[in-house]
Amino acid sequence: MRLKTFAGGVHPPDNKHRSAALPIEDMAVPTQVVIHMSQHIGAPSKPVVSVGDEVKVGQLIAEATGFVSIPQHASISGKVTKIERFTHPTGGISQAIQITSDGNDAWLEFADDPNYMDLSVEEMKQRVNNAGICGMGGAGFPTFVKLSPPADKPIDTVILNGVECEPYLTSDHRLMLEKGECIVQGLKLIMKMVGARQGMIGIEANKPDAIDLMSKLCAKETALSVVPLQLRYPQGAEKQLIYAATKRKVPNAGGLPSAVGVVVQNVGTAFAIYEAIRYQKPLVERIITVTGSVVKTPKNLRARIGTPFQELVDACGGLNQEPGKYICGGPMMGFAIPSLEASVGKGSSGLVILDKKEASDIEERDCLRCARCIDVCPMDLMPSLIVAHVKVGDLDNAVKMGLNDCIKCGSCAYVCPAHIRLVQWIDTGKLSWAEAQRKK
Ligand code: SF4
Ligand code: SF4
Repeated sequence: MRLKTFAGGVHPPDNKHRSAALPIEDMAVPTQVVIHMSQHIGAPSKPVVSVGDEVKVGQLIAEATGFVSIPQHASISGKVTKIERFTHPTGGISQAIQITSDGNDAWLEFADDPNYMDLSVEEMKQRVNNAGICGMGGAGFPTFVKLSPPADKPIDTVILNGVECEPYLTSDHRLMLEKGECIVQGLKLIMKMVGARQGMIGIEANKPDAIDLMSKLCAKETALSVVPLQLRYPQGAEKQLIYAATKRKVPNAGGLPSAVGVVVQNVGTAFAIYEAIRYQKPLVERIITVTGSVVKTPKNLRARIGTPFQELVDACGGLNQEPGKYICGGPMMGFAIPSLEASVGKGSSGLVILDKKEASDIEERDCLRCARCIDVCPMDLMPSLIVAHVKVGDLDNAVKMGLNDCIKCGSCAYVCPAHIRLVQWIDTGKLSWAEAQRKK
């Protein structure tokens, strides 16, 4: 098998053995969910229910507030008990709707539309928009917006991202094995909506069973293909995946995939698109991998949006020792969170819990000028120099060197022998620069 890849990147231990072979399990319906109004990039959703209202699963509880925004839906049936600020899955706090279960798990009815492939593009997009879908790989960009590229940027290729290059995570892998046919239908729907002539599914070589299955499912369709990829992090990042699969290079300085005729969607998003168009089912649940050295029984769980993280851990039998770090997402690009107080968001692909030894911080030393960070940067940046500018407050030069092109993949910090927290410094620089622009 000839494997494709991109330039740069690293190869951390994948640690997927704990959960890769475990079928997806349906979690029990939680007694309470907390559904955030900001689960996506863009304007927060606006509640359309009040405390005391009764809701069913799938019922609209918050509306989109602009083009780059999404609606939210009840993920359990019961009563709205609070609308206030709660801990967000990526840290911080933001407005959310708390629903307390009535124990009935009563759903709105969603009818099967067997002729879903023949719907007009406008109707398909409307159903995606109504379902409140945003990128489920973690980026959280509203899917409806991604399906509406600018008219002067024709799209010829859709790439489904089944790479899952983040260590520990196996939710996309399991979804491909268990819902492969639906994902292929989702790919065909996306191709119709954006007018693409070819569809690809990028999968790394550590998932040979998924490569085999998806290849079989695509075999009869000349427009569809599976692209097996070498193991290399961050191949799941949009620009790196596009290059690996097509050799097209998305320009830096704010370039989008549409600039090279490509739309990328995560395999989980393709599945949600299929369910939204065929059944008009809103996004009320997702697959999340709960794993790490201190989790007693790691699992791939189908959990309702808003399920408290603590309940996920309980469903995995609890912890076998004192935890050192909680991470929402994977250890490379995920968010370290202080506790299990937050709840599952639409972009929550994993909850990774590490022991104290794995989580221990090593003290930063002075830069050794070894250039290892430059060698591995998949965006062709010079992280050590950017950070040197950020450290002295010279943001103009940091930006000139590509501060805002950094995708925060962490490859540079992973290889740095001086343990410099390059990503945190870059993040600090980005935030300071954005704040300075806002003040101007
Ligand atoms: S500078 Fe940014 S894009 Fe480059 S390796 Fe570091 S985190 Fe990744
Ligand atoms: S890898 Fe670390 S020590 Fe080496 S040049 Fe980059 S920042 Fe300096």
